[in-house]
Order: sequence, then C-alpha cells, then structure tokens
Amino acid sequence: MADREREATYLAEDRMARVARNGAPMVVGGRLVSVEPDVKFTALSEAGLFCTLTCLELGLPPVDVRLRRGESTSHYSPGHGGGTAEIALASWGAWRSVVLHELAHHVLASRGDSEVEAHGSEFRRAHLDLLVHVGLARQAQELERMFTEAGLRLA
Ligand SMILES: [Zn+2]
Repeated sequence: MADREREATYLAEDRMARVARNGAPMVVGGRLVSVEPDVKFTALSEAGLFCTLTCLELGLPPVDVRLRRGESTSHYSPGHGGGTAEIALASWGAWRSVVLHELAHHVLASRGDSEVEAHGSEFRRAHLDLLVHVGLARQAQELERMFTEAGLRLA
C-alpha cells in the first residue's frame, strides 16, 4: 500500500511539474491547465538560500542543501541526534518543484512524528500548504486536484 501510494503521489506531482515546466497552459485530461511556471535554481547556493528563508518563515529548523553526485533522484534525510537535516539534490534536481517536495519532508520531520507515512496524506497536505506559502496557489490547487483524481487522501 505504501509503495502504491508513493508511486501515485510521484505520478501526480510529475504531472503537475510537467505543466509547470511547459511554461504555457496545457491540456491535461481534457482540461486546459495553467499554473505558475516552475523555475530552475542556477546554483546550489540559490536552492540553499530558498530553503533557509522558507524554514525561517515557517519556524522550522534549518536544512542543509548539497549535491548528490552520481544519483538520479533527490533525497531528504532528517537530522538524527541533533544533526542538521539535509536535502541532497540530484544533478537535475535543482527544479524548485523538486526542492519543495523535499522541503515538505522537512516540514513533517520537524513535527517529530515518526509514525507519519513518508508519502502519505500528511505529506501531501504539507506539500500543498508549502506551495501556497511560497506563492504557488495555482500549483497547489492543480496538485490537489491531481491527488484527488488519483484517489489519494489528504490530511
Ligand atoms: Zn519524497
């Protein structure tokens, strides 16, 4: 169930990111969809600054951002034992939408609830709230619709 749910969550996020990276309205499932464009950070430090500011605004502990060389996917690790949490970005992973996915993990991890499913309903709600917080309300609305259409629950 957790695997199926993770795959469905990724799929919905990928669909939304495709529209956001298209840079123009797109027909998805027979509907014309228009969201704020996705942007690519031009340097790791830029992605780091974005995370630092977002964490400050939300009152979250800081998170380090580094490059995950030789990998094709980005990754989040909570700061165990007082260490700093970390977002490791794959070489292609400097899209803002990818960084926001990893930051949503940080939001959940910072609540300290270890029972929360990594890509479950709380994660999806945290991701949507984060999109709204950083001014991507249409992306949030579209992603919520895609989650719902995929039968994914929201906390
Ligand atoms: Zn994830």
